[in-house]
Amino acid sequence: MFCIKDSLNKVQQQITDAAHAAQRDAAEITLLAVSKTRPQEALRTAYEQGQRHFGENYLQEGLDKVEALADLQDICWHFIGPLQSNKTRPVAEHFDWVHSVDRLKIARRLSEQRPEGKAPLNLCLQVNISREESKAGCLPEEVATLAREIDALPGVTLRGLMAIPKATDDAAEQRDAFAQMQTLFNTLKAELPSLDTLSMGMSGDMAAAIAEGATIVRIGTAVFGPRDYSKKQN
Ligand SMILES: *Cc1c(COP(=O)(O)O)cnc(C)c1O
Repeated sequence: MFCIKDSLNKVQQQITDAAHAAQRDAAEITLLAVSKTRPQEALRTAYEQGQRHFGENYLQEGLDKVEALADLQDICWHFIGPLQSNKTRPVAEHFDWVHSVDRLKIARRLSEQRPEGKAPLNLCLQVNISREESKAGCLPEEVATLAREIDALPGVTLRGLMAIPKATDDAAEQRDAFAQMQTLFNTLKAELPSLDTLSMGMSGDMAAAIAEGATIVRIGTAVFGPRDYSKKQN
């Protein structure tokens, strides 16, 4: 049986080791548990072990979990999947973060639709760092203009950048894409010093991402075990 308690401890240790290897403080790095396709009991188990940040990719599945787990104090919900502009309202209403903003139209709608009594919605601008045609994200050369425009919107707070580089097992290639993200981020920070988030690194490339400055790593498989898409409902 896959044990979430053990796997969470192991991932935390890997984050600490990768941080120390990079001479960074592990406390700068947040583990986002990517819980797409997982049943709500798996999230409860992780929560009982102290996990607070959860990432969902599919809107209806995410909304169902937000509702089912509403009794869990301080739980923090991150939307990390592709977002269509006609589906922004429930995300603006029920999530705390969106990592997958890649155009102004989406950011504007989230800004307008964020309920007034709530804290601003935290946003990351997704960058297609490996320039893959199939991938979401703005291009690196579009980042500065888009970030400036999003940063000016009410109801949302631009926190930083997110990327899903081209999948590769080659450690040097992993480092190279993440290093490009770090350079982009540092350039942007010179203009917008309040930015504090670089969301990058998944189960297969977490150490490389941490070596290049990741502040949020998005980990699914290493926390919850292999995904079984045959059970996916939507
Ligand atoms: C699924 C997913 C992850 C987690 O991937 P694992 O390889 O299971 O760790 C991270 N980020 C995004 C955007 C995802 O869709």
